[in-house]
Amino acid sequence: SLDKILTWREKNRCDDQEDGKEVTGGGGLSDKVSLYKGDITVLEVDAIVNAANSSLLGGGGVDGCIHKAAGSCLYDECHSLNGCETGKAKITCGYDLPARYVIHTVGPVARGHVGPTETNDLTSCYQNSLDLMKEHDLKTVAFPCISTGIYGFPNEPAADIALKTVKRWIEDNPDKIKRVIFCVFLETDFAIYKKKMSVMFQDN
Ligand code: ADP
Repeated sequence: SLDKILTWREKNRCDDQEDGKEVTGGGGLSDKVSLYKGDITVLEVDAIVNAANSSLLGGGGVDGCIHKAAGSCLYDECHSLNGCETGKAKITCGYDLPARYVIHTVGPVARGHVGPTETNDLTSCYQNSLDLMKEHDLKTVAFPCISTGIYGFPNEPAADIALKTVKRWIEDNPDKIKRVIFCVFLETDFAIYKKKMSVMFQDN
């Protein structure tokens, strides 16, 4: 369960601790974020975010994994939503997933190019997903590395955008979110996030 995933502060306090026992204190930003490497579909959170395509009808990568794990009812609900524009987000139930909801957001197709449009669209994905969390009073969320797979957004700038946008949103909305899990799948992303989070979330 979520209790087993340490917050960034806990992890840095007790890197040798393996059972994820609760460490009290803090209350800063680093208590609200976690870095997790693995499959997003196993996470018991209020919502997982899906890096969907504009049809919302499923695809490869994390999208395919989420639809497979959630079952065909997810497809049926998505089918009723009439797609989603780049940078926007729509919410559905989680069905057979341990997560209660899925927030589907459509990242920019970057194909290696990072210009203002790609940057703004990826920023909007994180912002609009978190705005939906707030709107539905949901407290725990996991994000995959949106756009960095099939859509070809370079990993390093994508991580920068993800971390900065989430950090700013939490600062602007204190008390609205309990935990944001950055769910990386690849070792390269794990290394990039670890390095950047050490700099950005130092209040441990
Ligand atoms: P996009 O089309 O937005 O680029 P992809 O699904 O191709 O989305 O890739 C986004 C990220 O999701 C990549 O880092 C990919 O390795 C990762 N990924 C793939 N499967 C999973 C999964 N089951 N859980 C979490 N992340 C995943």
